[in-house]
Amino acid sequence: MKIPFDKNVFEQEDIKIIMDSLNSGDIGSSGKYTKKVNIILSKLFNHSKVSLTTSCTHALETSMMLLNVKERDEVIMPSYSFPSTANAAILRGAKPIFVDIERENLNIDISKIEEKINNKTKAIIPVHYAGIPCNMDKLIQIAKDNNIFVVEDAAQSLGVKYKGKYAGSLGDFGCFSFHSTKNYVSGEGGALIQNIDDEEIYDKTNIIIQKGTNRKRFLEGKVDKYTWVDIGSSYGPSDLLMAVLYTQLLKLENINKQRKIIFDIYYDNLKAYVDDSKIVSCIKIPDYCEYNYHMFYIILESEKTRNLLMNKLKERNINAYFHFMPLHTSSMGRKIGSSIQCPITEEISKTILRLPIYNSMTKEEALYTVENLLGIIKKI
Ligand SMILES: *Cc1c(COP(=O)(O)O)cnc(C)c1O
Repeated sequence: MKIPFDKNVFEQEDIKIIMDSLNSGDIGSSGKYTKKVNIILSKLFNHSKVSLTTSCTHALETSMMLLNVKERDEVIMPSYSFPSTANAAILRGAKPIFVDIERENLNIDISKIEEKINNKTKAIIPVHYAGIPCNMDKLIQIAKDNNIFVVEDAAQSLGVKYKGKYAGSLGDFGCFSFHSTKNYVSGEGGALIQNIDDEEIYDKTNIIIQKGTNRKRFLEGKVDKYTWVDIGSSYGPSDLLMAVLYTQLLKLENINKQRKIIFDIYYDNLKAYVDDSKIVSCIKIPDYCEYNYHMFYIILESEKTRNLLMNKLKERNINAYFHFMPLHTSSMGRKIGSSIQCPITEEISKTILRLPIYNSMTKEEALYTVENLLGIIKKI
């Protein structure tokens, strides 16, 4: 049996929808499926304003532009994230300020945020690692007390709830990814959720996404010319990609159910071995969270054990992976002069192993993965 880490599968009914887009005569941005996806997401987020983008990276960049993040500003974020979180600040000339993570859920350590805040701090970007939300009540309180903005990097969190509210709807903005490695995919794609009720900001978002033009207002008949009005880029996805995403959002609950089956197989079969000397811990779903089963990870006793396990699984055609390299020790992190210590980030980065999980994964594939993993672990 060959078990990939990730796999995108489309069914006949999905392909019909995708073909409909191809046959529509217009696969540019702002078409039929872009509108349909926008309606689904805007409903999900309680009528927040939704802007679809070509990636979560672009959603993050747009949020930084909207908040007028600029030179000499500082943006607080965990070191344990994807480079896009930090690039969004750097592209505005601002400085990312890295904070260590909590062992419990690998999210930003809330108790270490306040000491990093000063009069240059413009925003915090909490990352909901594995899709599991940070302790947002505390984080939002800190942001309010200090008059700074919150942009959720909710790339992995679509469909996740924090105390009954959707992740991505809690901060000023929420950024999502539909990259092929996430739960609901369009290959590349993203969304920016605006939770501030302000029509002007939404207008500005559309200008940024539409190359600095007032194309949206023109299409809506609100202006009679379509011109360059502000700084912007090209962040609008093709309607073909939004047709792909539409097929996924129609099945949102089913996809969650499918992934839960795999997650539960891993959890039920591995929990007896967690706390053992070799498997130190595994992902935990906090009481406050309704989960989307984006990831299943385990933490091993050492880097050596993790790599050995990963390589032995690979020899048996089972693809399990490590994850983020700490941003503060990366070559770019060093270039921007980050001398910050994040010991837990460094340790987790060396000892984490993510097990394969994808929407079409079968019970047999999950059981086969667990059996092999336990077989290998016993011999290490
Ligand atoms: C996947 C991911 C991103 C990047 O998403 P893209 O849509 O590929 O730009 C950013 N942040 C986190 C935490 C991610 O997991």
